[in-house]
Amino acid sequence: MKLTIASGKGGTGKTTISTNLTSLIADMGKNIVLTDLDVEEPNSALFLQTKLSNTKISNKIVPTWESNDCTLCGKCAKNCNFNAIVAMPNEILIFPELCHSCYACSELCPTNSLLMKPTRIGEIKEFETKNFPFIEGRLDLGQEMAVPLISQSIRYTKEKYKNHIMIFDAPPGTSCPVIEASRGSDFVILVTESTPFGLNDLKLAVETMRVLDKNFGVIINRYGIGEISVEEYCLKENIPIITKVKNDKNIAKLYSKGELIYKQIDHFKNSLDEIITFIGDIKCVK
Ligand code: SF4
Ligand code: SF4
Repeated sequence: MKLTIASGKGGTGKTTISTNLTSLIADMGKNIVLTDLDVEEPNSALFLQTKLSNTKISNKIVPTWESNDCTLCGKCAKNCNFNAIVAMPNEILIFPELCHSCYACSELCPTNSLLMKPTRIGEIKEFETKNFPFIEGRLDLGQEMAVPLISQSIRYTKEKYKNHIMIFDAPPGTSCPVIEASRGSDFVILVTESTPFGLNDLKLAVETMRVLDKNFGVIINRYGIGEISVEEYCLKENIPIITKVKNDKNIAKLYSKGELIYKQIDHFKNSLDEIITFIGDIKCVK
């Protein structure tokens, strides 16, 4: 089973759910791996006692300009859909951060002056924790394109842990990174909170999942702080509410200390048990 835990916005408790759920399932004797795909700002490791076991450099392929035969025709710049190449009067400028590695410029260059070469964008790190392997993708400072590193981190996880339950902690939002983190999964859990902001972002996330034709359900976190509009929306849209995690300042205290919560707060563990039961008996919408 491949499970992605996502949310329409940051700060809903997605990482709290991911780390605690993975650890609880590992405690039950299951083979499980957690991968933090929030590559711009991974933070799952803050809640786990980790020991680094492997590091892999992550590259993407970008063009490099060989000036010798270039006629400065400008065809490369005209054909780049991502504005990653600019043709100047005397040179060709390449902006690797904008490049989507589509090869169009290199293929279309009449003089073979654009060679595609690997360039570093970040790292995939693997750690041991007390009870499960943990993988983290981390973009280098200044790098903007999360998708290649997300897809490489997923591939690394699948190749190395193909017989494990895989939990992917997605980046927040509804754009390309979360789509990449969700599209290969069997099920997506959307974590939200019962506030107008939570509802607004949940609606966007639901639209995204429906476009992707994904099976998904919702966890309402910090249940009780706001209103019931999230529940009403889920009911109206026939979206399963997997669990409601009670609002409890003791959860926030443990979170701020970087501690796992299910070991100390019973109602939180009960919510995780509900998620595990749901996963074992998935009822879902598309
Ligand atoms: S397409 Fe090739 S020859 Fe034309 S400007 Fe670009 S690099 Fe130079
Ligand atoms: S590989 Fe594609 S995205 Fe990158 S510079 Fe060339 S045309 Fe643009």
